[in-house]
Amino acid sequence: NRQVRLARRPVGRPDESTWSITTEPIPEPGDGEFTVRVEYLSLDPAMRGWLNDVRSYVPPVGIGEVMRAHAVGRVHASNNDRFPVGAAVSGLFGACEYAVSDGTDATVIDTDLAPGPTWLGALGFPGMTAYFGLTDVGRMKPGDTVLISGAAGAVGSIAGQIATLSGCRVIGIAGGPEKCAWLTDELGFDVAIDHRAGTIGRALHAVAPHGVDVYFDNVGGDILNSALAALRTHARVVLCGAISGYNATDPQPGPSRYLSLLVNRASMAGFIVFDYADRFPEAHAALSNWIRRGDLVAREQVETGGIEAFGRTLNMLFDGANTGKLVLRVAED
Ligand code: NDP
Repeated sequence: NRQVRLARRPVGRPDESTWSITTEPIPEPGDGEFTVRVEYLSLDPAMRGWLNDVRSYVPPVGIGEVMRAHAVGRVHASNNDRFPVGAAVSGLFGACEYAVSDGTDATVIDTDLAPGPTWLGALGFPGMTAYFGLTDVGRMKPGDTVLISGAAGAVGSIAGQIATLSGCRVIGIAGGPEKCAWLTDELGFDVAIDHRAGTIGRALHAVAPHGVDVYFDNVGGDILNSALAALRTHARVVLCGAISGYNATDPQPGPSRYLSLLVNRASMAGFIVFDYADRFPEAHAALSNWIRRGDLVAREQVETGGIEAFGRTLNMLFDGANTGKLVLRVAED
């Protein structure tokens, strides 16, 4: 039973020195607890923020602690009737091979509806984030033009499809021709712009000359700035994330185009998906219906290499080396 622990707080991009691997006996569950054998770990851009010793929406991971991570697995031993041996479960089990849980933040999942990795993607927090970010924070309505950055990633790919299914015109921004082709050919995006092919301002103006009603921002930086210049009156900017700056060592300059919010009487609001916990069943019902009907493509990129591959796999997010939800297969059977 091996664990990934935070060895050293990274400055800039995490590297090998950030992590250490430890080995412990498989833990026994106490009263009301169960032991889970972790099968898949979720890799999330937010993990980079959890490594910084700063005040945020969750405390930082401590030096020497097992890295915080969402995961899915199977109950291996149990003293909790809600989580019987053999049940498939998801939860905040950490970057390890076996974990003990008292059931807090854990749920039994239905792997007949979708395989384990999908419960870390479309049916997990990325799906919830896309759903509430668009419907609630973005107040998306049919006929809107919706622009999404990080569009071929876990959150963005689901957000774009929800917008399409809701009768919006959807423009995605992603890195590289393969990702862009996937968005338009398989996910139903109306247009895709490759941000690696050059600055996106002109391309955006060409495809949305009248501007956008909702901008769902996953990346921040220059792309956010270009998107601000493309807002329509009463547009909503959904501040979901800003991955382009997560490894920066200096504060990032603010968007010079922010006065577009004033001119267009637009708004920009941030949110944390956990704020919507009491409404997850609503999002879950919508997303699982779309999946069952075949209307929603849930794509995961499953990396192998076990727990040792954690650090390398996490960095793939910052290189744009993933399409869809990035997960790491931990269990080797
Ligand atoms: P993704 O699957 O989208 O993976 C990250 C992607 O970001 C990469 O594949 C890459 O795609 C893109 N990217 C990386 N660096 C840059 C850069 N410098 N400029 C532009 N694009 C870049 O991750 P998630 O879907 O899990 O997360 C997306 C965003 O949502 C993150 O910012 C995350 O922090 C945020 N988030 C927020 C939540 C909330 O509650 N507010 C909850 C969950 C996630 P490409 O090749 O296309 O550039």
